[in-house]
Amino acid sequence: MPDVTAYAIDSPTGSFERPTVTRRDPGPTEIAFDIAYAGICHSDIHTARSEWGPARYPLVPGHEIAGVVTAVGSDVTRFAVGDRVGVGCFVDSCGDCDDCNAGQEQFCSQSIGTYNSIGRDGKPTVGGYSTAFVVEQDYALRIPDSLSLESAAPLLCAGITTYSPLKRYGAGPGKRVGVVGLGGLGHMAVQISAALGAETIVISRTMSKEADGRKLGASAYYATSDPASLKPLRNSLDLIICTVSDNLDLDPLLALLATDGVFVMVGLPPTPVPVNFGRLINRNRAIAGSNIGGIAETQEMLDFCAEHGLSAWVEVISGQEIDRAYDDVVASKVRYRYVIDAATLDA
Ligand code: NAP
Ligand code: ZN
Repeated sequence: MPDVTAYAIDSPTGSFERPTVTRRDPGPTEIAFDIAYAGICHSDIHTARSEWGPARYPLVPGHEIAGVVTAVGSDVTRFAVGDRVGVGCFVDSCGDCDDCNAGQEQFCSQSIGTYNSIGRDGKPTVGGYSTAFVVEQDYALRIPDSLSLESAAPLLCAGITTYSPLKRYGAGPGKRVGVVGLGGLGHMAVQISAALGAETIVISRTMSKEADGRKLGASAYYATSDPASLKPLRNSLDLIICTVSDNLDLDPLLALLATDGVFVMVGLPPTPVPVNFGRLINRNRAIAGSNIGGIAETQEMLDFCAEHGLSAWVEVISGQEIDRAYDDVVASKVRYRYVIDAATLDA
């Protein structure tokens, strides 16, 4: 496979530069595809800035990847040239352990991250801020025809990360679901929760995104900056999906859970968050974490989004704008996901 262009960062405080990287030729069960768009997830930023521990530099992030197949290996059965495909947060696993057999490949001890990992070839994996990709067919997703590639790309992480716990904890008719933080993950959580039939409530820091929250499907919108306004919500939510990327005060949020309510943390702040266990004991409340989703569930989520007309609200940017976009995501200025147009990478 020819060399391809990528955007890479060299250090936690560096800026994105444009090197050439080599992708392997597709093996017998692999596909190659031209990347059309890659979303910028806040996890890319945590990783690139070594906020979760030292990253492997040079780092090419990107795990919300959508494109079109250009070549298939001799034994590929699931895809053909011209198919629209996506890749999410991992590109390989053993395929044979309990987690893989349960469709939870993300927990396989041999799972390989789309970037910041070491691939089976012993080389660092190179993510989606690039022009082409090669992946085993079993780790690629089919993007339904009704979804545009730019608005489908963020579903590969933001979509599955919110769909999976919403399904697992029974979001649906008769349930009240709170979504904390209206960013990339949050705006997908609101759409999916509402489409599942749950009464969906946004809890943001301010009221500034209320109109968007309601357009996305929320029936109510609250701001943590005005704690008194949260009073009517106390003891009322069956499920909270928290997407906050930074340290936060959990206690006022746990107080919103009804008896047996579950607070699911999908945001991954770089530092530990204190928990007042009295709040949990008081009403049999629970705290849980949730990590992306397996391949079959990711395909189910894509099909669900297509069926219900859901997709990410995106702002398309060029490769040259990645540094600025990172700062804007951290400042919560993005509405609601930046996606890099891979056609700009060679410009
Ligand atoms: P994002 O677009 O930046 O959204 C995060 C939202 O959190 C912001 O829009 C903001 O919402 C709120 N927020 C930010 N700083 C805050 C603060 N200091 N206090 C309170 N609220 C704050 O990020 P994202 O891409 O959705 O990712 C969110 C988090 O999920 C990140 O930590 C990311 O690494 C993690 N993540 C986890 C998984 C997983 O598998 N569990 C997968 C993907 C991402 P408001 O402006 O509405 O308050
Ligand atoms: Zn992500």
